[in-house]
Amino acid sequence: MPITDVAKKQIAQRVRLHMKICFYCGARNSIAATRCRKCRNSYLRLKNRNLGVKK
Ligand SMILES: [Zn+2]
Repeated sequence: MPITDVAKKQIAQRVRLHMKICFYCGARNSIAATRCRKCRNSYLRLKNRNLGVKK
């Protein structure tokens, strides 16, 4: 079922991509996280926000 409401779609994408990924174990962490919740490593990256953007 396609999402026709553009505003809702943007919100959904924003929430889905606003997270940090641990470089070591790949766990998802909160956007506010400074360390991985699983392995306690501070080497986090932002999830690639370009995913899912089609022109
Ligand atoms: Zn980790």
